[in-house]
Amino acid sequence: MLTLAVALTALAATVVGLTVPASLPPDDPIPAVARFGLAVGAFALAQLARLRFRTAAGMVSITWGEAALIVCLYLVPAGWLPAAALLGTGLAWTAMSVLADRRPAVEIVRITASLTAATALAATVATALGQPLLAAPTPGLALALAAGSVTYLLVTAWLGGAQLALRHGVPMGPPLLVALRGKLLMFVGNVAVGLVVVALLEIDPRWLLLLPPPLWLLQQTYRHRLRADQERRTWRAFADATAALNQLDERGVAGAAVAGALGLFGAETVDVAVARVDGSWWRYRMDASGRLRDRAIDPPGRAEPGPHELVRALVVGDTTVGALRVRFPRSGPPGERERDALAAFGDALAAALHDAATHAELRLVTAQSSYDAVHDPLTGLVNRRAMLERGDEALRRLAHGQPVALLLLDVNQFKEVNDTLGHAAGDQLLRLTAARLGAIARPGDLLGRLGGDEFALLVTSVPAVGDRAAPLTYALRTAREIAERLAAPTEVAGLRMSVEVAVGVVVADAGAADLTELLRRADIAMYQAKEGGGSVAAYDSARDDASTDQLALLAELREALAADDQLVLALQPAVDLATGAPTGVEALIRWRHPRRGLLNPADFIRPVENSEQLGAFTRYVLDKALSVAAEWARQGLDVPISVNLSARSLLDRSLPAEIADALRRHQVPPRRLVLEITETVVMSELEVIDEVLATLRSMGVQLAVDDFGTGFSSLTFLTRIAVDELKVDRSFVIRMADSPEAAAIVRTTVGLAHELGLRVVAEGVETAEQRLTLAELGCTAAQGYHFFKPMPADKIGAVLGTLRDSAASNVFPLRADGA
Ligand code: C2E
Ligand code: CA
Ligand code: CA
Repeated sequence: MLTLAVALTALAATVVGLTVPASLPPDDPIPAVARFGLAVGAFALAQLARLRFRTAAGMVSITWGEAALIVCLYLVPAGWLPAAALLGTGLAWTAMSVLADRRPAVEIVRITASLTAATALAATVATALGQPLLAAPTPGLALALAAGSVTYLLVTAWLGGAQLALRHGVPMGPPLLVALRGKLLMFVGNVAVGLVVVALLEIDPRWLLLLPPPLWLLQQTYRHRLRADQERRTWRAFADATAALNQLDERGVAGAAVAGALGLFGAETVDVAVARVDGSWWRYRMDASGRLRDRAIDPPGRAEPGPHELVRALVVGDTTVGALRVRFPRSGPPGERERDALAAFGDALAAALHDAATHAELRLVTAQSSYDAVHDPLTGLVNRRAMLERGDEALRRLAHGQPVALLLLDVNQFKEVNDTLGHAAGDQLLRLTAARLGAIARPGDLLGRLGGDEFALLVTSVPAVGDRAAPLTYALRTAREIAERLAAPTEVAGLRMSVEVAVGVVVADAGAADLTELLRRADIAMYQAKEGGGSVAAYDSARDDASTDQLALLAELREALAADDQLVLALQPAVDLATGAPTGVEALIRWRHPRRGLLNPADFIRPVENSEQLGAFTRYVLDKALSVAAEWARQGLDVPISVNLSARSLLDRSLPAEIADALRRHQVPPRRLVLEITETVVMSELEVIDEVLATLRSMGVQLAVDDFGTGFSSLTFLTRIAVDELKVDRSFVIRMADSPEAAAIVRTTVGLAHELGLRVVAEGVETAEQRLTLAELGCTAAQGYHFFKPMPADKIGAVLGTLRDSAASNVFPLRADGA
C-alpha cells in the first residue's frame, strides 16, 4: 500500500518535473542529454557505493544520495532530478539485485520509488530556497542545498522506517531513530562532498580528478564507523540475549534464545531444537504474534542449512543438547560476523540448556528425596509425619462438621512373626498388609504406616446421613470389613498365615479435632480392642478420661515429690494379741492433693508403679517412714516400721544400697525396718529379685509377705526365700467366722509360720469377735480398725508409748478379757 502510494508519487513527480521548462544557458557546452546522463550516473553511483548495517528491525542502507543530490542540483535543472533519480537508482538496484542479492522486483520498485520521491521533495525545497543550477556556491546557496539534503534524509529515513515498522509490526520511532543516528555522520560527509564537488566544478572540473582518493578514504571511515557502531550494538544485544538465557527451565531458556536470536541477528525465523535427556527432541519457534510455539520433532539429521540459514549444533562436552537454526532475511545474508556471533550465542545457549536439564534432574532428585521424606520405604505408604500433615490438610479441606473416621490398625503377633520367621518375613507381612489396605482404601482416604506394625486409615467419605450414631456404625463396619479382608489366609515365608489386626476406631466431625488428637483417641480404642481380645473397638471417652487423668496425675506426682507436704504417711500399729504391745507400725501412703483432695493409694499407686517415678516414690516413702521410726526410737520405743514395696522396686539392683544409705542417715538399725512384699513378687523367680531380697536380708532388714494367701502359688517359695513375717490377708479375716476353708487357711498359715519360726500378723481386724477367733486359731498379732485406724505421724509416738506402758502393766490383757 505504502509502496504503491510512493510509486505513484514518484511517477507523478517525474512526469511533472520533466514538463517544467529547463532553464539551461543557451551557450551550454554540454549537451542536455549528456547532463541528464551524468545525473543518472551520479544517482546510480551513489547507490552502488552504499554501505549497509543491520539493526534490530532489519538492514539499513547508507548511500551517497545527498552528495549525488547536491551535485545533480548543480548539474541539471531541478525538474529533471526525479527522472534522473528514478533511472539511476532503478538501474543501480536492478544491477545489484541481478549480480548479488536477488531481491524481489517489488522491493526494487519500492526503493526506487522512495528515493525518487525523496529526490523530488528535496529538489523542491532546495530550489525554493535558492537557484543551485550552475551557480557558484555561496553560503546562502550552500544552506539551500543543505536544506534539500535534510529533506532527502528525512524522507528516505521516514520511508525506510515506515516500511520496517509495517513489515515487523513494531512502532516506527525506534527504527527511525536508529536509522537517523546511523546516517548522520555520512549525511554530513555527503553534504560536504556534494558542496566540494560543486565548488571544484565551478573552479575547474579537472580538480575532480583529485577527488577519488579522499572519497575512498571517506568511504572507509564511514565503513569503519558503521562497523564499530554495529559491533557495539551487536555485543550489547549479545550480552542482553545471553543474559536472558540465564533461566532454570528448558522452556524459559529456549524462549529467551528464540527472542534473543531474532533481535540479535535481525533474523526471519529462529528454531531452537532441544535434545532431552530421554532422547526425544523438542522444537521451539516464535510465531508471527510473538508467542512461543513448541512441539515434539524427530531427531534432526545432518540437514544442510538453507542459503540464508546458519545452523549451530549445541554441544556441551560431548553431549549434544540441541541445535540452533537461524534464517536470515534475503536482504541481509549472514557474514563472518554473524557466524562468529551465532557460534558464541550457540555455546551460551548450549550451556544454559544443559544447566536447565541439570536443574530439572536436580528438581527430580529433590522431589524424590522429599518423596522419601514423607514415605515409608518398605510399603510406599506415607509415614507418620506426612500422615499428620496431610491428614490435617484433609481435615481443613473438608466442610466443617463433615464426619470423618480414623482407623488405627495394629498387627497382632507381629513381633512373633519377626522373631521366629525373620525380618524378611516380617517385611513381607507388612508389605502385604499395606497392599491389602491400599486396595480397600477409597480415593480421598489417607492411608499411612505410622511405624512398626501400625497403620492408619483416615476415611473422609463417611456418609453424613442418618442419626448421630450413623457415622460410627459405618466406621465400625468398615473396620470389621478391613479386619476380615486382612485376615484372608496368605503365605508368608512358606507358611500359611492370616494377618490379624486390632483396630481402634474414632469418629469425629471435621474441624472438631486435629489428626494428632484423632490418632491419640484411636490409639486408646486400639488398646481397648487388644485388651478386649476383639479385633475392633470404638473410642470411648470415658476410658480416655481415666488415661489422660493418669498422665496428669504423674505430672502432678513429680511436683508432690518435690513439695514434701503433699505425700504423707498414715501409720497403723499392729499389736500383740496376747499383750496388746505394739509389734510394729505399717506406713501407708496418703496424698493430700491440692486440687483432688485426699487420695488413697488405690487412687494413684498403679500408675506410679508403672511410671518412671517409682524409684523416687519408693525412696520418698522409705525416707519418711525411717524418719518417723527414728523419732519414736529416740523416745526409747523399740518398734519396727513396715514399708510396702512395689513389685517393680525389687527389679532395681540399687535398692539395697539405697535402703542401707537411708538407714544410716536416720540411724535406724536394719532390723527395725520391715519390707512388705506381695506373694506374687516372690513367686516370679526372677534372679534379680532373689538377689535383691537376699542382699536386703543379709543387711539385717526384715521381710514380710503381704496379703498372704491371695497368691495362686504353693508355699514352696518360703523355703526358697527367707522371710520374717506373714501378713494374713484381710479377706480371710472377714470370712473365717463363716467359712471353714478360710479358717483352715488361717490356721495352716499360723502353724506353718510357727514351724518356720515366723511371725504372723492378721490384717483388717475390725471386730472383737475377729480378734478372739484369731487368738483361738493361734495368731499372735493383728492390725485393723478394731485396734487403730491409720493415724498421722505426729500421733504415733504417743500411741506407741501408751501401748507399751499398758502392755507392761497389764500382763496378758487379752487372756484376762477372754477368760
Ligand atoms: P496393704 O498393704 O494391704 O495395707 C493395708 C490396707 O488396709 C490399708 O489400706 C489400710 O488402711 C487398710 N486397713 C487397715 N485396717 C483395716 C480394717 O480394719 N478394715 C479395712 N477395711 N481396711 C483396713 P490403704 O492405706 O488404702 O492401702 C492400700 C494398699 O496400698 C496397701 O495394702 C498397700 O498394698 C498399698 N500401699 C499403701 N502404702 C503404700 C506405699 O507406701 N507403697 C506401696 N508400694 N504401696 C502402698
Ligand atoms: Ca501392707
Ligand atoms: Ca495387706
